[in-house]
Amino acid sequence: MSLDACGGPGGDGVDTELLAFLADEAVPATLFVNARWIEANSDVFDELVAEPRFEIANHGTEHRPLSVEGRSAYGIAGTASPEEVVAEVAGAQRRIAEATGLAPRHFRSGTAHDDDVALRIVRDLGLECVNYDVLGDASSDGGAPGEGLRGVHGGVGPDTRSPCAQGRLTLPGRASTRG
Ligand SMILES: [Zn+2]
Repeated sequence: MSLDACGGPGGDGVDTELLAFLADEAVPATLFVNARWIEANSDVFDELVAEPRFEIANHGTEHRPLSVEGRSAYGIAGTASPEEVVAEVAGAQRRIAEATGLAPRHFRSGTAHDDDVALRIVRDLGLECVNYDVLGDASSDGGAPGEGLRGVHGGVGPDTRSPCAQGRLTLPGRASTRG
């Protein structure tokens, strides 16, 4: 199972109910964490890092769609050059490695949009790109904590949906508001 920590209106929301559920149920998870979210939630981040059941993965520095030509997704401007792709990946990679002592092995871009050249750059940086193949609960009206947990996996490959545009440390599609 994988979750994203990235969003809310300020890109820094924390779903404390979901975190409590993960703790109560001792659910192992891969957490894709965005660098802006870390800056806003460093205490929560430290707790997540300290939890051995969680793998901390890279969810970008500015939470931008990964493109070499500025392609945007869901109103979020993408990176516009190979250099910006590298910066988007490397910033969060550095920040997470500092905290965990381990370089993340998995990357998911903001909005999970990537183009082919950007994907190759990510691979050249030693990371595997992971997007969604199954959404937990794509309904727009939220639900009970943990309701969307079943059937969520990291999948490899492109995905046209926007599981994390509205982010929070939550499941793809679970948040009730967009934009
Ligand atoms: Zn996200």
